[in-house]
Amino acid sequence: MTKKVALITGVTGQDGAYLSQLLLNKGYEVHGLLRRSASADVVDARLKWLDIDGKISLHDGNLTDLSGLIRIVREVEPDEVYNLAAQSFVRSSWQQPLLTGSVTGLGAANMLETVRLVCPEARFYQASSSEMFGLIQEPIQSEKTPFYPRSPYAAAKLYAHWMTVNYRESFGMHASSGILFNHESPLRGIEFVTRKITDGVARIKLGMQNKLALGNLDAKRDWGHARDYVKAMWLMLQQDTPDDFVIATGRTTSVRDFCAIAFGHVGLNFEDYVAVDERYMRPAEVDVLLGNPEKARQELDWAPETSLEEMVAEMVEADLQRLKHLTHL
Ligand code: NDP
Ligand code: GDP
Repeated sequence: MTKKVALITGVTGQDGAYLSQLLLNKGYEVHGLLRRSASADVVDARLKWLDIDGKISLHDGNLTDLSGLIRIVREVEPDEVYNLAAQSFVRSSWQQPLLTGSVTGLGAANMLETVRLVCPEARFYQASSSEMFGLIQEPIQSEKTPFYPRSPYAAAKLYAHWMTVNYRESFGMHASSGILFNHESPLRGIEFVTRKITDGVARIKLGMQNKLALGNLDAKRDWGHARDYVKAMWLMLQQDTPDDFVIATGRTTSVRDFCAIAFGHVGLNFEDYVAVDERYMRPAEVDVLLGNPEKARQELDWAPETSLEEMVAEMVEADLQRLKHLTHL
């Protein structure tokens, strides 16, 4: 049997790394879009962490460069395309709104257009986001909940989301959109609150720092594990009919309670270390997100496998290991 071929944009990010690992384990030939960087040794750090660097074919390209995407897709001839690349940090999107629009919004349109022109039979996954619910219109958000984006990031994701729906409905493409709630892991970017906390906990435990400055401790998120969530992406592309799915755990936790769990894991009380710093507050906040993954449970047979406590423990342990290695403790 010939191997299935997948192309992943954002392959060097958190989800790209876990998805690559999943697809390699399933026997796929995996290709990734690689944004050129002057620091070659750090670009595939996450792939190295999972010990899969070297098993993926990387192609120089950028989501904003349509002709480059066309060239790569012609070369790779993918069966499945996962569009994960984005300027993904909400806070930066107020500082770089146009860049965020170009990459996170128009970039997805570039990828859809590329697939339509070069390989319209390929299956397409768009990384949509619970941030599109923003100022929530229902206490528990499902595929039917109206959107209300609250940041340039969320507005760009909403454009990409509707473009995916439109390419499906206009051109009959097998294009699905996963509305994923926040998902974390030891490979999460350090600027996101969960990783910032687990890294802070590890530094404090090892005596490398004594305070952790955070913003809004009352914000609540429905946090799951990235390893579980990439399975849902794959499952969406294995369905006969393309569709949109909310992927979430159905449990929401405040940043404050996340701190309590993470500090508690190493026997510390977060109140002794966490300080609120206005600099980390946002021009507009998404106060609370809580998803209903019932449709994914029923139609994809998907369910989260990792509890929040298990995930936090894994993240803190990984940060302790990383820092000990760095400092030869
Ligand atoms: P990351 O920020 O970890 O990864 C983003 C990836 O996009 C990186 O590989 C990055 O490359 C790449 N990228 C950025 N700009 C460009 C560009 N112009 N051209 C090509 N590649 C580019 O994100 P995650 O893995 O956490 O998330 C994956 C996707 O899912 C993103 O689209 C994100 O917005 C979305 N999402 C994530 C959620 C989460 O909780 N993690 C929730 C819902 C949606 P480089 O390594 O060079 O920076
Ligand atoms: P987001 O949901 O994609 O914006 O993911 P983040 O991890 O960046 O932020 C989650 C929530 O944590 C938001 O409501 C932030 O306002 C809140 N938060 C509180 N303190 C911090 C902080 O120091 N850094 C970040 N990134 N978020 C923080």
